[in-house]
Amino acid sequence: MSGAAEQVIQTHWQDDAARDLVHNVSDRYALFVRGEGSSLWDADGKRYLDFLAGIAVTSLGHAHPVFVDAVATQAATLAHVSNFFATPPQLALAAQLKRLAGTGPAGRVYFGNSGAEANEAAFKLARLHGAAKDGGAGRPRILALKDAFHGRTMGTLALTGKPYMQAPFVPMVPGVEFIDSTVEALEEAIDDRVAALFVEPIKGEAGVIPLPDGFLAAARELASRHGALLIVDEIQTGAGRTGAWFAFQHEGITPDAITVAKGIGGGFPIGALITFGAASELFYPGTHGSTFGGNALATAVSTAVLGEIERAGLVENAAVRGDQLREAIDAIGSSLVDGCRGRGLLIGVSLRHPVAGAVVAAAQQHGLIVNAANDATVRIAPALTIGDVEIDEFIDLFTRALRTVEDALVLDETPEEKK
Ligand SMILES: *Cc1c(COP(=O)(O)O)cnc(C)c1O
Repeated sequence: MSGAAEQVIQTHWQDDAARDLVHNVSDRYALFVRGEGSSLWDADGKRYLDFLAGIAVTSLGHAHPVFVDAVATQAATLAHVSNFFATPPQLALAAQLKRLAGTGPAGRVYFGNSGAEANEAAFKLARLHGAAKDGGAGRPRILALKDAFHGRTMGTLALTGKPYMQAPFVPMVPGVEFIDSTVEALEEAIDDRVAALFVEPIKGEAGVIPLPDGFLAAARELASRHGALLIVDEIQTGAGRTGAWFAFQHEGITPDAITVAKGIGGGFPIGALITFGAASELFYPGTHGSTFGGNALATAVSTAVLGEIERAGLVENAAVRGDQLREAIDAIGSSLVDGCRGRGLLIGVSLRHPVAGAVVAAAQQHGLIVNAANDATVRIAPALTIGDVEIDEFIDLFTRALRTVEDALVLDETPEEKK
């Protein structure tokens, strides 16, 4: 497309976005019109390599035939009937999630439409547990980890240990206390008045920060000793992303509940709470619900996406390609890069200067989509389908983006702080 025509489209969509969309995010980078595999195209026909996958969502890449077929087939069969009724895809997905999470027969699944809704259900589960224990005298306390992210609704925001996110919306839903992610802090805080402990096994939004070794095992032990639920937020880490179906499985523990969303739908909105053991008996009729949650269309698509992840061995691929990617990033030898955090295909590239925003912008200029998880961390979360071709191209583009920022830093000694 010629420069002038390009200008017209650019101007129009940015004006439209600025005028018509709520200003809850800063300016959008690009107007995307099509995707295939790990490629995205913008309205000018420029191709990008997508190593963000819509924040760990499009696990099979864009427009995967299995995803496309599941949407089309189920849409042409039965999309929605409300939760007064069951549908075969809903029952199939519940059974599949129980199997993959390893709940055994006692597990149960509640469906919502997003991560936040899954965590809202988990919050209610915690309250029901708190009320059920000790003859209703209750367990008013809920523990969560500082810096962990659990969502943007009022309930999940109250669980999110980021004061700057909560500040504009006080008062918060009461009862939540935030602790450091250390066994000592947990030992100190937990007692028999705690209904639940929420953990995020790798803090994705905080900068892809894993929990310390042994923390989850200690959390399991302490929660059990005090009769509190251990609830693991697997919304970003689940669906195979870290090289196991769920990150808690690396630690060999059994939680009381996990929450999932993002990658399980492969781009179709869906979330779920999966309960284990006695926690599966806490909800009773009238305690929770959702009009859309678990409808036939969403659950058929998620069943197909998880089925393809399993059939194609993409959980193993996430583990292997994650290691390959980490080694290749280290081998770039960039003076900006301090190292990689995370597991499998959830990677935080830690930078020596707070220039993650500048690296993301430079990457985009070179045709690569990644994201800044914080000022000094670039988050990489590609489709689980990536292979040598995508990794080679990523390293080439990422190297160029790093060079662009390195050169700018040399020119201007003060690091630019962009977000
Ligand atoms: C994305 C995310 C959420 C919120 O999910 P939404 O679908 O945006 O509501 C909650 N917890 C974690 C760990 C997440 O990464």
